[in-house]
Amino acid sequence: MNNDEFIRRDLAVLWHPCTQMKDHEQLPLIPIRRGDGVWLEDFNGQRYLDAISSWWVNLFGHANPRISMPIKEQLDRLEHVLLAGFSHEPVVQLSERLVALTPAALTRCFYADNGSSAVEVALKMSFHYWQNQGANHKTKFVNLSNSYHGETLGALSVGDVELYKKTYQPLLLEPITVASPDCYYRQDGQSTEEYSKQQFAQMEQVLAQRHQEICAVIVEPLVQCAGYMRMYDPVYLALLRDACDRYGVHMIADEIAVGFGRTGTLFACEQAGVAPDFMCLSKGLTGGYLPLSVVLTSEPVYQAFYDDYQKLTAFLHSHSYTGNPLGCTAALATLDIFEQDKVIEANKILSEAMYREVQELQDHPHVAEVRQCGMILAIEMAADKVAKTPYPWQERRGLAVYRHGLEEGVLLRPLGNVVYFMPPYVITQEQIRHMTKVAIEGIHLATK
Ligand code: PMP
Repeated sequence: MNNDEFIRRDLAVLWHPCTQMKDHEQLPLIPIRRGDGVWLEDFNGQRYLDAISSWWVNLFGHANPRISMPIKEQLDRLEHVLLAGFSHEPVVQLSERLVALTPAALTRCFYADNGSSAVEVALKMSFHYWQNQGANHKTKFVNLSNSYHGETLGALSVGDVELYKKTYQPLLLEPITVASPDCYYRQDGQSTEEYSKQQFAQMEQVLAQRHQEICAVIVEPLVQCAGYMRMYDPVYLALLRDACDRYGVHMIADEIAVGFGRTGTLFACEQAGVAPDFMCLSKGLTGGYLPLSVVLTSEPVYQAFYDDYQKLTAFLHSHSYTGNPLGCTAALATLDIFEQDKVIEANKILSEAMYREVQELQDHPHVAEVRQCGMILAIEMAADKVAKTPYPWQERRGLAVYRHGLEEGVLLRPLGNVVYFMPPYVITQEQIRHMTKVAIEGIHLATK
C-alpha cells in the first residue's frame, strides 16, 4: 500500500486531533508505517526526522529495543489489572523509583493515563484536601497567562491559550490569571532573573489578597511549551514556593512536558531547588511508548484523606487504565536508560550543538528571539524584529516551515510563529545539523 491509498482509507473514517480536517484537502496527511530511532518512515519509504518527539513524548527514539523488549516480556505476564484493591510489581517498583528521584517531600504516587487527567487529579486533590481540612471557602485556582495544562474541561480551565479555550469558555471554571513570568518581552539589557522577579509582584499581590479562597497555584515550570515555548527564570518558582508556604496555598507543578530531562535537569523544579505539593508527570514518563501519567504528592496531603471509611474523606477518582502494568514497565525501562547512559550529562553536548547550529538566525531580520532551555530550543519569527510585532496568525507562517520540513524529511511542527526543536535524546550531532539546516531554510522561505 502506498501513501495515497492509505490516506483515502484514513480520511474516510478518521477525525484527527488538533486539526481542521479541511486542511487535508491541500495538506498531505503522513501515514507512518514504521519508526527507527529519530526516524519515522511513511508508506512511500520517505523518512522524517522527528524533531518534536511526536508531541514531546519520545525520549530515546522510536522502536527502541531497550524499551520494547521489557514491554513484550511484561505482555506475556500481565497486561492489565485494576489498581483498586489490587497491585502489581511494575507499579510498585515505578512508584519507589519516582519517589526516590523527585524532590524529597513527594512521597506518594497517584496514577492516571494521560496528562490532562493528571492535571484533573491534582486540581481535585488540592480542592478536596482543603475540604477535608474544613477550609470550605477554598474553591479557586491561580494560573499564569499563556499557560497550557491539557484539554479536558478542568485542565482547559486552568490553561490560558485562547486558541484552545475561547469556544468552551461558558463551560469552564474561572481561575484567577496572573501575568506570566515569560521573558520574551523583557527590556533590552534586563536579565531573565530580574524580569521574572518583577513579574512575581502580581502573584504576590493576588495571594496576599485572596489566599483564603485559593486552593492552589498551577504552573508549568520554566517553559510554557504549548504557549509558544515561552521561557522564564527559575527564581520565579523559588518565589512561588515561598509565597505558597506563607499564604497556605498549594503549588502544582505540571511537569508533563518539561519533566524527564527536557529542561536540562531531570525535573525542572530542581533548578529552583523547590518541591511542589503536587507534581504531574506524563509524556516522557514512558519514553513515549504508552499512555500513563502520575501525580506525586506529599505525606501531609495523603494523610488528610486517610481516615475511617465512614468519614467519607477518601479520594474516589479513578480511570480504568490507572497504573497500567505495560505503561509502568515502559517507564521503568526509560528510567533504566537515564541511569545507565548518564543522559542528563550527555544531553548537555546535544543542547550546545543545537544552540551553535542556529546562531546565524540571531541576525535574521525576522527572528525576534532564539531561546533555549536544555533540550528545548525555540525560534520566534516576527514581522518586526525590534518591536516584536507578531505576524498575523492568518498568514500561517509556521505552516510554511512545516511544509518545507516535510519536503526535506524533517518533522517540525511550529506553534504559530515559533519554530522549535524538542528532539529525542538519541539524536546525533549530524542529525542536529540536518534538522537545524532544514529549519533555517524553512524560516528563510516563510519570512520572505
Ligand atoms: N500539561 C502540559 C504542560 C502539556 O504540555 C500537556 C500536553 N501537551 C498536557 C498537560 C496534557 O497532556 P495530554 O495531552 O496527555 O492530555
